[in-house]
Amino acid sequence: MCGIVGYIGQQDAYPIVIKGLKRLEYRGYDSAGVAINSGNNVNVYKRKGKVSDLEQFTLNKDISGCIGMGHTRWATHGIPNDVNAHPHISMNGKFVIIHNGIIENYAYLKKKMIARHYEFKSETDTEVLANLIEYIYMFGNVSAEVAVRLALTKVIGAYGLVVMCIDEPDKLIAARNSSPLVIGLGQKEYFIASDATPFVEYTDQVVYLDNQNVAIISRDGIQIKTIKNDIVNPDIKKIDIDINEIEKGGFNDYMLKEIYEQPKSITDTMRGRVFQNDNYISLGGLLDVMPRLMNARRVIIVGCGTSWHAGLVGEYLFEEYARVPVEVEYASEFRYRNPIINSEDVVIAISQSGETADTLAAIQLAKKCGACVIGICNVVGSTLSRETDAGVYTHAGPEIGVASTKAFTTQVTVLAMMALMIGKNKFNIKQEQYHELLSELISIPTKIEHTLQSASKIEEVARLYKDSSNFLYLGRGCYYPVALEGALKLKEISYIHAEGYPAAEMKHGPIALIDDKMPVVVIATKDKGYEKIVNNIQEVKARKGIVIAVVSEGDQTIASMADHVLEVPVFNTAIGAILTIIPLQLLSYYIAIFRGCNVDQPRNLAKSVTVE
Ligand code: GLU
Repeated sequence: MCGIVGYIGQQDAYPIVIKGLKRLEYRGYDSAGVAINSGNNVNVYKRKGKVSDLEQFTLNKDISGCIGMGHTRWATHGIPNDVNAHPHISMNGKFVIIHNGIIENYAYLKKKMIARHYEFKSETDTEVLANLIEYIYMFGNVSAEVAVRLALTKVIGAYGLVVMCIDEPDKLIAARNSSPLVIGLGQKEYFIASDATPFVEYTDQVVYLDNQNVAIISRDGIQIKTIKNDIVNPDIKKIDIDINEIEKGGFNDYMLKEIYEQPKSITDTMRGRVFQNDNYISLGGLLDVMPRLMNARRVIIVGCGTSWHAGLVGEYLFEEYARVPVEVEYASEFRYRNPIINSEDVVIAISQSGETADTLAAIQLAKKCGACVIGICNVVGSTLSRETDAGVYTHAGPEIGVASTKAFTTQVTVLAMMALMIGKNKFNIKQEQYHELLSELISIPTKIEHTLQSASKIEEVARLYKDSSNFLYLGRGCYYPVALEGALKLKEISYIHAEGYPAAEMKHGPIALIDDKMPVVVIATKDKGYEKIVNNIQEVKARKGIVIAVVSEGDQTIASMADHVLEVPVFNTAIGAILTIIPLQLLSYYIAIFRGCNVDQPRNLAKSVTVE
């Protein structure tokens, strides 16, 4: 969370920093701030609110200079206000810093700094770090770089950091531990950012900073060291992001664009991996770990939020086709238990950004226990992709809307490909069945396109129930995680309370909530549990609940009992479950729009949860 941008070069820094912050605003939007070195001094401007509020504030102010940095905040310590906004200036004005993450021992350090007569303006953990660096610099009589490194040896916690020192104006110092930072390399100019999107139009050469590494960046070059002063050779990578992918492309918001992108994203996820004519799936990223995957005693899937829901769908697919026991865990819970894992286990970690702090910590734990760790993520070069034994990229393209959509469907696509590949290798699936499954998989993008054509009908249903204060989502089997995901989408962007439940569990509690004001969204496509779900719909109707059913095209039975039906094309295997989330994404999108909510930047949320 929180977006960081830095620039040093020949161009004006301010426009580059502001444009970059707008691209990173999905990471936090509580406040925004910049520091621009005008040559004579460093001008700091910061404001509660969005980057656009900051822009207004800087009108007619001195924003000149070719070295600058900016921050868009997702508050962890201290409310969102002007004072707590970054950049923070150290007490004697020697250092200006921006920070993503949490300094966990900040209270201890703050007490020590107060004892040294330091005064604090903000409630943030970040200001403690600014003052600590300054204290070491002034009283240790060392360079800015040494002061930063020494300060970081005293810090426990996560940081993506950019530091300016007033006495050493021609450089930026960046550092990272757990919070991502990537450096873009141009011609006598350098960019620093939380991800590469702020500088894609300037360079495709990047260096991902590793944990506990510090980069000293001037116009003439960069030097990377560990915080213990060991020199690190920069590992320069080439990135491939199309600028159009990070623009809205004619849509009003990113979320709708990303919902509509799903046919393409899923096609990209399968590209070069699914070969229907030859009846096989090849996941190159897993080749090295295939023996361990084939012989796994157990698969544990870890993730957070939507990725956890994708994992739950994966559980059904793996158990159905790969016939291996699966457990799905919240990464945050997994890591704080004392889980029993060993070298015969395979842990699959799922994260859109590949930077989710809890998921990364779960990976470390699984590795320590000797498990084989496989990653599923979207962002090439992310920490997750570097810290796992093997992995599969979803190739969904940048997802900027905070509420995840295409990440979910592409993650499920990867899990389906894995389950089928293992199932076939283990001879669990007969040739003809395998062929049918591959056809189903390949048909998903076209079927999603078809489903998207009913958007206007879904919009009408959304209009009717936009003022409801509660929603219930029900599904059986692999549609239960879809129900969870549908409910999460609604909560995230419309702030309506919604719960997802296994349909059969309704009788054990939630049924008490049903009355004529309660919309109940039921995933009721023609599948194994169809008869049972029809009964559940009757039970809801008997209590006057409003039923919005996601059904297979042409289903007259449910159409005659439900208040509304949202149709998806007919499918024959569990893989088709992916389709049923599409109407639910659109339903929550339109409800949120009718309620006047900002769907791309819902309150209190941020994407890429890099704090624990
Ligand atoms: N912990 C810092 C703060 O609350 C940084 C939060 C962030 O990553 O945006 O200001």
